Amino acid sequence: MISFNRPYLTGNELKYIAQAHKKGVLAGNGVFTQKCQSWVEQMMHVKKALLTHSCTAALEMAAILTDIQPGDEIIMPSYTFVSTANAFVLCGGIPVFVDIRPDTLNIDENLIEAAITPRTKAIVPVHYAGVGCEMDVIMGIARRHKLLVIEDAAHCVKATYKGRELGSIGHLGALSFHETKNIISGEGGALLINDKKFIERAEIIWQKGTNRKAFQQGKIDKYTWVDMGSSFLPGEITAAFLWAQMQEATKITSKRAESWQRYHELLEPHEIAGKLRRPIVPKGGDHNAHTYYILLNSMEQRYQARKKLEKKGFMAVSHYVPLHSSPAGKKYGRLAGKLLLTQDISERILRLPLFIGLTARQQNTIAEILG
Ligand SMILES: *Cc1c(COP(=O)(O)O)cnc(C)c1O
Repeated sequence: MISFNRPYLTGNELKYIAQAHKKGVLAGNGVFTQKCQSWVEQMMHVKKALLTHSCTAALEMAAILTDIQPGDEIIMPSYTFVSTANAFVLCGGIPVFVDIRPDTLNIDENLIEAAITPRTKAIVPVHYAGVGCEMDVIMGIARRHKLLVIEDAAHCVKATYKGRELGSIGHLGALSFHETKNIISGEGGALLINDKKFIERAEIIWQKGTNRKAFQQGKIDKYTWVDMGSSFLPGEITAAFLWAQMQEATKITSKRAESWQRYHELLEPHEIAGKLRRPIVPKGGDHNAHTYYILLNSMEQRYQARKKLEKKGFMAVSHYVPLHSSPAGKKYGRLAGKLLLTQDISERILRLPLFIGLTARQQNTIAEILG
């Protein structure tokens, strides 16, 4: 069976883990954590990056940092992963679900303003498949209504919108290094801070609510509990693994892009024949080949396509169960509008295998099966 995803290893992961071990520092915030954070800061042009043990953790940090209080509303798509909403629900926030655009499957920026109420605190755009949301419009709305923007950039390492890295445009952003993403450390993530005023408090929240940072810098002689926080940082073994991946991020992205482009060419005739629709990447954005998906014409056709692929040994998967239709989404969230597209897309989407090591031949076969 050709699985949907296969984690890629650069070959240097174990070498760096051995170095971390030899150094004798395995807790968080060591040399490898610093290297990874500097890489993100330089590559993405963000004021501060903090490694976390997941993107989920980075979003939770963002919810604490933006002071989400019970009853505060956070506007986001329903077509996303659980953590986008759950992070805010932990603080008592109410996710307000908005429909998506038919082309990129990202939040429909034209529906955001109608969802704003006096309780609205933030907008959380999710850049699906590493294709940017309409950030100029979204940042404009946020400015006009004095809202914060937290980008869920889980899919987005090395993806840009109008020349700017996704995750570096809002006040805060969150990356994922989960093994299903492009650059990986098993579990892992990073909080991106673009608004300087959040940096000091973020470092306290990151280290269990303590002023350990000031202690490590010799500014105080003992550290103590100063704010709410948690243990959000990964250990050095995880950071050492991640460092090996970051060093090859360009190569990883271009190899994935080759496979993405091959699918795109192979499936063009299918699209012309009306059998499926391929992903749409608007001009001005540079995606990172995180996902190759197709939209079938109906739920039944998706089921058939998936079954045919499976029969020949290829695993294709669907997602997301729209959050507004999930048990927790119904309990904690609220809808803004009807979300017809979200429902429709979630019933027709199919994600094809995409990983480094997938061969042209396998892709040809997949295209034939879908024909
Ligand atoms: C994967 C993902 C997350 C969660 O990432 P973790 O690192 O697994 O916590 C959040 N949002 C989106 C859109 C994702 O795809």
